[in-house]
Amino acid sequence: MKKIILLGATGSIGQQTLDVIRANPDSFRLVAMSFGENIELGLKAVHEFKPELVAVKNREIYDQIRLNIPSNCQLTYGHDGLCETAAYHKGEIVVNAVIGSVGLIPTLKAIEAKKTVALANKETLVTAGQIVTDYARKHNVQILPVDSEHSAIFQCLNGEKKESVERLILTASGGSFRDKSRNELKHVTVKEALNHPNWSMGAKITIDSATMMNKGLEVIEAHWLFSVSYDQIDVLLHKESVIHSMVEFHDGSIIAQLGTPDMKIPIQYALTYPNRIPSYESERLDLTKYGQLHFEKIDFDRYRCLKFAFDSGKIGGTMPAVLNAANEVAVNAFLEDKIPFLKIEELVERALEEHAPLFNPTLEDIQEADGRTRQFVQSLIN
Ligand code: NDP
Ligand code: MG
Repeated sequence: MKKIILLGATGSIGQQTLDVIRANPDSFRLVAMSFGENIELGLKAVHEFKPELVAVKNREIYDQIRLNIPSNCQLTYGHDGLCETAAYHKGEIVVNAVIGSVGLIPTLKAIEAKKTVALANKETLVTAGQIVTDYARKHNVQILPVDSEHSAIFQCLNGEKKESVERLILTASGGSFRDKSRNELKHVTVKEALNHPNWSMGAKITIDSATMMNKGLEVIEAHWLFSVSYDQIDVLLHKESVIHSMVEFHDGSIIAQLGTPDMKIPIQYALTYPNRIPSYESERLDLTKYGQLHFEKIDFDRYRCLKFAFDSGKIGGTMPAVLNAANEVAVNAFLEDKIPFLKIEELVERALEEHAPLFNPTLEDIQEADGRTRQFVQSLIN
């Protein structure tokens, strides 16, 4: 029985993690969880899974629900509450499925408390990859990928020597606008952007898929997770999302991991690693249904955010944190109908141009760069 701490239980990954736990009551128990503002879904999970510790986003939510939770459940709130939950003494593995750079410090707290980290929160490695991977090494803690691409690569690398790796090949669906020209992108709406052809995900990451910033963030994550240089990472457009990613080895062999586009499979693998248990919840992949799979080279002029991500990753230091912060603010503004779609990449570009990166940054340096970028991009939007 693995004891699980789930951060971000009301989100897309959070809810699918609960599906996996629910389907495997003999394998998993939820001992602590957090959520943000979605009281309805949050309380539903609290009553169903009966965790011992629950963190909510702020004091207001805490006051609203404090009388509605089971008496043996301890309630806490705010960033401190999130960190306390990440380090809860009874948990063995922390699924970090919160969104945004708010997920960084809880990851570090989980590592400090010697928990295995099943990492969905992209921003953790994008903003502070060096610090987080050093910290995990120092505390002898494993970071297991949840994202489908990194889970695929992780599985392809199983039992292989690092020296044998030629390159990682991340696949990208192309998102909701993959068949549109740049000109057609000028007038797309939020609703159209949220309609992803293959995956059902949270709003922010669905927009990031359409701009391909999502793949860019994944490239940076892959660099840190698998300690490979950016020159060893390629992205391939693959519209069916059947091959979740691949590894090419020096001898010319390529190993790929395939599956239906269902996050429950990589989530479950992170929870059971190095074992596998049957997955009753997920549909099986039937390749005959597809008949053929398609692959295309990426056009970096079409997907400029991906180019920005490679460039920021290569520069390193505080640059990826700035990329991420600018993108978070810009995507939010797009979701609130304050800016057009193509303005997202323009704002990110402006923020990167504006920033003089600091190298070997401390956590404070990163947080400061993050904060300043948010202000800068917000001022451009206003
Ligand atoms: P969602 O927006 O669906 O969920 C985010 C979760 O975080 C919710 O539980 C939300 O609470 C909580 N949350 C948001 N802001 C705060 C805050 N300030 N403090 C505390 N909790 C907060 O996101 P996703 O599930 O889509 O994504 C989560 C992470 O996983 C992201 O980093 C994403 O990039 C990554 N990821 C997602 C994939 C997917 O398929 N969705 C695939 C691969 C990676 P509430 O809703 O209650 O306010
Ligand atoms: Mg992904």
